[in-house]
Amino acid sequence: MANKDYYEILGVDKNATDDELKKAYRKLAKKYHPDANPDNKKEAEAKFKEVNEAYETLSNPQKRQMYDQFGTADPQGFGGSGGPFGGQNGYYSYTSSGFDGFSDFGDLGDIFSSFFGGGFSGGRSSAKNNQGPRKGADIRYNLEISFEEAFLGTERYINLTRNETCKTCHGEGAKPGTKKQKCSMCGGSGQIRQTQTTIFGQMQTMRTCTNCHGTGEIISEPCLDCKGKGTVRKQVKVSVKIPAGIDENQTIVIRNEGEPGEKGGEKGDLYITIHLKRHGIYTRKGQDVLCEVPITFTQATLGANLEIPMVDGTKETFKIPEGTQNGTKFTIKGKGFKNINNAYQGNFVFTVLVQIPKRLTKEQRDILMQLAKTMNEQPPIKKKGLFG
Ligand SMILES: [Zn+2]
Ligand SMILES: [Zn+2]
Repeated sequence: MANKDYYEILGVDKNATDDELKKAYRKLAKKYHPDANPDNKKEAEAKFKEVNEAYETLSNPQKRQMYDQFGTADPQGFGGSGGPFGGQNGYYSYTSSGFDGFSDFGDLGDIFSSFFGGGFSGGRSSAKNNQGPRKGADIRYNLEISFEEAFLGTERYINLTRNETCKTCHGEGAKPGTKKQKCSMCGGSGQIRQTQTTIFGQMQTMRTCTNCHGTGEIISEPCLDCKGKGTVRKQVKVSVKIPAGIDENQTIVIRNEGEPGEKGGEKGDLYITIHLKRHGIYTRKGQDVLCEVPITFTQATLGANLEIPMVDGTKETFKIPEGTQNGTKFTIKGKGFKNINNAYQGNFVFTVLVQIPKRLTKEQRDILMQLAKTMNEQPPIKKKGLFG
C-alpha cells in the first residue's frame, strides 16, 4: 500500500490539534458512514475506512510522531529484507499501548466495530466476531541496556512469562478423546443479534454470547493440564537483537513472540522498549556522544596531543592548539552513535576543562614565579584618560 497523506484525508493541516483532528474526523465519519450513503455504499465504505485509518494514526501521539518521521505508523514497514535483521524485527519509536480513539465516541465505537465485524484494529471488542481466527495479544517489555550496548549493538536474552498453546489438548481446551459441544444459547455462532437505537436510526448489532464467550462451543470435559483454557502460562527465553545506535524509548518489535492466537490465528507481537543506563563519563545528544575532558593549564597554554577514550574502547589522538580556552568544544567526526535507519554516524564532541593546580612543588612554584614576572613585565593595558 502506498503511503497516504493522512492529513489530507482528514482535511487538516500538519499542525492540527487533537481537537481539530477529532472535529474533522467526526464530520467525515458521519459523512461517509455507509449507512448514510445507501446509493454509493461501496465508495463510502472505502472512504470511511480511510478516514478511520487516518484518525487512528494521527490521534495517537506516538503513532503520529512516527508517521511524521517515517511516513508510516505500521511497524511492518520497518526492518524489511534490507534491514539489519531481515524481515523479523522492526525498529521504531512508537511506545504507547493500544488505540483507544473510540472511547470518546460512546456508542459510535460499537457501531463501527459491529459494522466491520471487529475487523479494524482498536475498535471496542464488545461486539467482535469471534468465529474466525484471532491474532494473539501483544506483549510489552521494558529492557534496560548500558550506554556501550546501545552504542555497539548487542544481543540479549529476556525471560518472559506468557501463554503457550497447551500441548496436551493442542489448544482445544477439551480433554483428549472428548469433543466440544455446540452452545445452545447462540446455536454455535458465538453471537447474539440485538437491535440498537443509534444516531443513524435502528441498527442491528451483534453481541458476544455470554454462555460460550463467543466461541460457539461448550467444553464439557476440560483438559486437565490447561483447565479448558487451551493455553498454559510458561516462562520462555527470547533473544533480542539490539541494533547499534538505538536510543532511549525506541521499541524493537519481534513478530509472533506475543500471546498465542485463537482459532488458528497468528501469535501476537513482542514490543521491547529500550531504556539506557546513565554513563559515568559520556552523555548522548541525538547521534552525538558528549563528554568532558580535563586538561592541565600548561596543555591549554602550550597545546597538546590528547588521548581521548572512545565509547567502543579505542583511543583517538586529538591535537588541541596553543591557547585553548577553558570550555572549548572539539569534534571528532564520525565517532558518535550510528543511526539505526541509515548510514549516518554522529560525532564525538568533547569539552575541555582546564584544571588549575591546587598544590605545587617548590620547583614548579619557582618556575611559575619566573613566568609571572615575565607576564607582569608586559605593558599594562592602557585605559583611556588615565595616563593622558
Ligand atoms: Zn489443554
Ligand atoms: Zn454461545
